[in-house]
Amino acid sequence: MKYVGVIGYPLEHSLSPVFQQAALGAAGLEARYEVWETQPERLADVVASLRQRDRLGANVTVPHKEAVIPLIDELDEVAEQAGAVNTIVNREGWLVGYNTDVTGFLAALKQEGGFEVKGTRALVLGAGGAARAVVLALAGSGAAAVTVINRTFPRASRLVDDLRPLAVGTSLHVLPHIYASFAAALMGCRLLINCTPVGMTGSGTEKETPLPAEVIPPGALVFDLVYNPPETRLLAAARKRGARAVGGLSMLVYQGADSFRLWTGLEPPVDVMFRAAKAALKPAGAKGGG
Ligand code: NAP
Repeated sequence: MKYVGVIGYPLEHSLSPVFQQAALGAAGLEARYEVWETQPERLADVVASLRQRDRLGANVTVPHKEAVIPLIDELDEVAEQAGAVNTIVNREGWLVGYNTDVTGFLAALKQEGGFEVKGTRALVLGAGGAARAVVLALAGSGAAAVTVINRTFPRASRLVDDLRPLAVGTSLHVLPHIYASFAAALMGCRLLINCTPVGMTGSGTEKETPLPAEVIPPGALVFDLVYNPPETRLLAAARKRGARAVGGLSMLVYQGADSFRLWTGLEPPVDVMFRAAKAALKPAGAKGGG
């Protein structure tokens, strides 16, 4: 029996165990996906345990995506650029870190949104780990310009300063979190991505949108990284404005599918993963994280 799991805290609402176990089963692998809820003081021990022969690796989620970096042996280029790891692979005791949020976001944008990033102008809301992955993905795909707006301005400035050297051909901008900024940033903008938890079940902001709904441009694509509820206030408002709307479940599944490929070397059964994730989300459901 082989083992793989998710490292984070708290993890009670994570959907990954459900759809990853379904994928391992469908692939006929004798492997179990476990929940490794880990407080910061135990992180080093839990990561060290991944070197055991029966461990395939792990997913890493909030709040450990950056903290695991000094604890592993090698970083893939994308993870290094993002400054965050969400997947660890155990290669015979040598731990390699990857960031499949970047590739998962791009896969979801293409498969669900049918969106071509090249030459587009985008607005990113938020400046945490997910926003970093999204900005990197957009710049790597040839976006013309990306504006970042975050509640805490200096965090957005830091993100843009860090990523600007990597964003060759994409101009990165920061604006303050005020009404005039949203309106200005959305002029000529075809893609809006929410990388904040605003609207997420259990966050206390379920009835809110992360920006005033009336500024959403008709015809744009609105991508909400929040996947619970599947239809957030933002997505409902986007549809009402005549924009297209994509929820966060597809990114969650595609980033998980990329992790599965890295651990097993097999093509992930994406349909099985989607079915399992949607079924798990329906009743009481998950809250967020990985
Ligand atoms: P994070 O590192 O904690 O960053 C959270 C960001 O949201 C920060 O910029 C924060 O602003 C902002 N924010 C939090 N509460 C807010 C509020 N009430 N109003 C306005 N802004 C607020 O989290 P993360 O890892 O980037 O994740 C962000 C969201 O994306 C979460 O909901 C997570 O579940 C989701 N996510 C989804 C996927 C997926 O596959 N679908 C993958 C990764 C993440 P401040 O800087 O001002 O605190």
